[in-house]
Amino acid sequence: MIVVVGAGLAGLQTVVALRAQGYDGALTLLGAEADPPYDRPPLTKALLVGETDDTTLEADSAALDVDLQLGVRVTAVRDHTVATDAGELAFDRCVLATGAQPRRLPGAGTTLRTKADALALRAAMTAGARLVVVGAGWIGAEVATAALARGVHVTVVEGLDRPLAGALPADIGSRTLPWWSGVDLRLGATVEAVQPDAVLLAGGERLSADRVLVAIGARPDVPEGPDLTPAGAAAVDPQLRTSLPDVWAVGDCASWQSARYGTRMLVEHWDAALHGPTVVAANVLGGAEVWDPVPYFWSEQWGRMLQYAGHHPAGDRVVWRDGGDRWAAFWLAGDRLVAALTVDRPRDLVQARKLMQRNATVDADRLADPAVAVKDAVAGFPA
Ligand SMILES: Cc1cc2nc3c(=O)[nH]c(=O)nc-3n(C[C@H](O)[C@H](O)[C@H](O)COP(=O)(O)OP(=O)(O)OC[C@H]3O[C@@H](n4cnc5c(N)ncnc54)[C@H](O)[C@@H]3O)c2cc1C
Repeated sequence: MIVVVGAGLAGLQTVVALRAQGYDGALTLLGAEADPPYDRPPLTKALLVGETDDTTLEADSAALDVDLQLGVRVTAVRDHTVATDAGELAFDRCVLATGAQPRRLPGAGTTLRTKADALALRAAMTAGARLVVVGAGWIGAEVATAALARGVHVTVVEGLDRPLAGALPADIGSRTLPWWSGVDLRLGATVEAVQPDAVLLAGGERLSADRVLVAIGARPDVPEGPDLTPAGAAAVDPQLRTSLPDVWAVGDCASWQSARYGTRMLVEHWDAALHGPTVVAANVLGGAEVWDPVPYFWSEQWGRMLQYAGHHPAGDRVVWRDGGDRWAAFWLAGDRLVAALTVDRPRDLVQARKLMQRNATVDADRLADPAVAVKDAVAGFPA
């Protein structure tokens, strides 16, 4: 019996991959939410602006022959047994795909992680309503974009001095500042208290709101049992194996040891939850595949498509490609390309990611030139 814990993208993909790779034994998928597996990125995009109500992932649990049990939370993983709030279940092998939970602040304020959260936020986003968002990160930016489109008055409170400060270096975050012009953006602000209808700032200012959204990042959500990293993720080896026998972990809840970057990686993005399960399924079935991708994510904000690949802390300098509104930043370690951020330059991003996968060295001058295809900026390419 294989038990997969967590019925999100990574959990569902694990089930799909196990069947695709020939596993025909008993398979159970346990999910804490009442909804069948659904996609989260549209929650801050199409769903929030009202273009869709349903982001359910396509899956036929009958065809997959999986015992899908919803509304069941696993509280602990022990020796070949999971404890749930509905009793215990024995397993031969187990995969944790339990994702992450939003960080909260003491006091009130809503968060956005689930479909129910997004539908409730959308219902509150009527024209003229006042929304205060704490945090100018990825979720904060996408929610503010959708809220403005719905005629909501948006205030965003950020403790640091620029948007996206937690994710990107200062010079990048500052470049996005002009995009926020329709928002009352409070940078360097300290939140003293969050109330249901207001955010109180240090210094005494009270920002009244019809709704307060706390969007200050997420923290891995792992049931008791496996060893955790300091960030609270399941610590997995390069084959996605946890410290417990016959238990693997994948997606937002897992932090893997990367040979590519020489460090432990925690990547809470869709692409890893989509592709990691292929590797985890192979290893659950006796393989020895290594998970060490060039990470990728995207964000849609202010009418722009931001895409990122790689791991910029591995870089020692930045090369800018200035194409007006459509720009890119590339991080190099020596002459090796290790990360890229592109704004409305999807082809550049795809090509940059391929160069990173090949561990290619590049010519920085050609990389900086928007007239040169990124793939042609590889070192030694005929000019
Ligand atoms: C609003 C939003 C927008 C996003 N937009 C983007 C984007 O634009 N681009 C991008 O790259 N990424 C984006 N992401 C991130 C992406 O959605 C996640 O990386 C992805 O959902 C991770 O999938 P997962 O299956 O690992 O975890 P999750 O999607 O979190 O699924 C985990 C599931 O496990 C369940 N669970 C947790 N604990 C237990 C337990 N103990 N027992 C049973 N079940 C449990 C949870 O209820 C949940 O349903 C976004 C995320 C959010 C929340």
